[in-house]
Amino acid sequence: MNRVNKERHVYIFKSPEYFRRFFPNEQPLLKIGMAKDVSKRMEDLRGKCGLFDLARVSDCEDRPMEFYWKVEEVVHTELLNFRRLFNCKKFRNAKGTETEHQEWFAVDEEAALRTVQRWRRFTELEPYDENGILKDHWSRMIQPKNMEHPDAEEQWNDSQSRDIRWTKWLDEGAKECDNV
Ligand SMILES: [Zn+2]
Repeated sequence: MNRVNKERHVYIFKSPEYFRRFFPNEQPLLKIGMAKDVSKRMEDLRGKCGLFDLARVSDCEDRPMEFYWKVEEVVHTELLNFRRLFNCKKFRNAKGTETEHQEWFAVDEEAALRTVQRWRRFTELEPYDENGILKDHWSRMIQPKNMEHPDAEEQWNDSQSRDIRWTKWLDEGAKECDNV
């Protein structure tokens, strides 16, 4: 495969009406995933899972990337506390039981978008070598002494403080990166 063929988009999907109808007492979930053809993935999910109003959260910084899987991995890790199993109402496996889908998050759109865009920006600084291993500069940046640690009073679901903390870390790393 050539380089372009390996590139994928990281997307955020929402399906607000679906979740209001089937899970009225819960925060609507968002799916954060990766695809080569986002429209096709959306069509697949609409049909397979009955997500009738599935739509993409608008993302003006979207572009296909080679290290899309790193973006997704880091985003999923940051949002781990918001991850939910989505008990699909339509798709049943071979045994006829309901299927639980991965990659769904009870997080608001803005926080999801900020997270995706931040780690996309990080990945564009080419912090990984060809094997997906962090280069020296960024390995140093993730040492505990080079990271700010959340204050005791920061709540686990305080997306804004978390965003500020990581954005600062990224900006500092990017600045030093230029000087290496
Ligand atoms: Zn499904």
